[in-house]
Order: sequence, then structure tokens, then C-alpha cells
Amino acid sequence: MPHYSVKTVYEKIIGPKPVIHWDNMVWNWLNIPKNRFICWLEVQGRLQTTANLARFGVSNTANCLICGQADEDHKHLFFACPYSSRCISALKLWLGISYSTSNLKQLMRFIAHGRMSKFRKQVSFAMLAAAVYAVWSSRNSCFWNASFPTVQNMVARVKKNVRDRILFVLPKNVTRRDSLWFATLLVGAVASVFVAVGLLCMLLQLGSMVAKISTPMEGSGHLGLSDSTMVNEMQGGSTRG
Ligand SMILES: [Zn+2]
Repeated sequence: MPHYSVKTVYEKIIGPKPVIHWDNMVWNWLNIPKNRFICWLEVQGRLQTTANLARFGVSNTANCLICGQADEDHKHLFFACPYSSRCISALKLWLGISYSTSNLKQLMRFIAHGRMSKFRKQVSFAMLAAAVYAVWSSRNSCFWNASFPTVQNMVARVKKNVRDRILFVLPKNVTRRDSLWFATLLVGAVASVFVAVGLLCMLLQLGSMVAKISTPMEGSGHLGLSDSTMVNEMQGGSTRG
């Protein structure tokens, strides 16, 4: 008698499943939850880009809202557009990814098959997901507010979001080597905090120096001792003379 299982019947009904290569990236544990959803739409080409809206007759133009140099489809927005290309280049540099492509699918494949640890792959996927979300957010800001963040601001925000998320859900089985590598990603943030604290200290010192210089002058002016003494001395000196 043949073995019966619900799984076998279900698989026969739905037919062969399509092979996908993006599940590790989209459903990565280190991704920020809202980034997962936008990434899931992106990998299926279901974000309502201007090119899609123009095809449905909703938009008069298919041009990229950010650069206006090409049709705003998924391939252009992630990451062939000059704006998003500069952002992803800076983020690849941050994680030490030397693969020279701005194509999201190729980047995903490179990371998935790369010779790096599981943790580093997860961090790289989290960065990609955050970058996709940030570019989509910038594009929407362009549409609704007619402005979008600079590349530097966008990159800084993505780095901060990725760092914060990973620190929040840091897996326990991270090797010492990976921990050291991740610590190097935190150095930039710590350095900027130190610079900010240093500048604050300098300003406070400068403020106290100004206060010290100005206090005796104000004091003498307020009491009027030195001025009157000087006047007396001058008058006395002139009389004596
Ligand atoms: Zn563009």
C-alpha cells in the first residue's frame, strides 16, 4: 500500500515549486522587520516604481524621480541609479565587499556563494536589505516632499540602523574572529561619538576661558574701585605735579 501524506498531495496539487535564490537574504534573522517586507516586494518586482505606474496609466512619465536619467524600474532603482549606486558603493566599502557590481541580484548571489562566515553573510544581507529600504524611502520622499537625503546622510543612517539591529539581536554563537570583525564596524560610530564629545569639551573649555577673562573686567567695572582709584591717583599726581 503506497504511503500517504498531506505534504505529497499538496505538492502534487500546486505542481513544481519555482527555485528562488533570495530567501536567505529576505528572511535573514538580522534584517530589520520592515526592511524584510520591502525587500520581499523588491525581489518579486512588485514595488510600485514610476515605470510600473506608467505602465498602468497612473503616471504620465516613467522617469526616475531621483535622477531623471532613465526609466525608474527595479533594476535602475536598485542600484543602477547614480544616487543608489553611490550609496551601495559606500556600504560595500564599509563591509569590505570588493565585488564591483551595482546589480542587487548579482550582489545577493555573490554574498550567498562567497567564502565568508555565516555571520558575515547575515550582516551583508542585513546591509543590502537596509539599503533597499533606504533607497525606496528616498524615492518616496522625492515624490511626496520633493527632496531626498544626501548620499552621506543615507549611508550614515543605514550603517546606524544595521549596527543597532545587530547589537539588539546578536546571535550567541558568533566566533571570536567574527566578533572582532563586527567590532571594526562599530569603530566608526564610536569614533564619531568621541569626536562629538571632544568638540563639546573644547567648547566648554573655551566657554570657561571666556568667562574667566571677562569676569575681572566686569567686576572692576561693577565695583568701580579701580577706575576711581586711578582717577584719584591721576588727580593727586597732577596736583602734586
Ligand atoms: Zn535614477
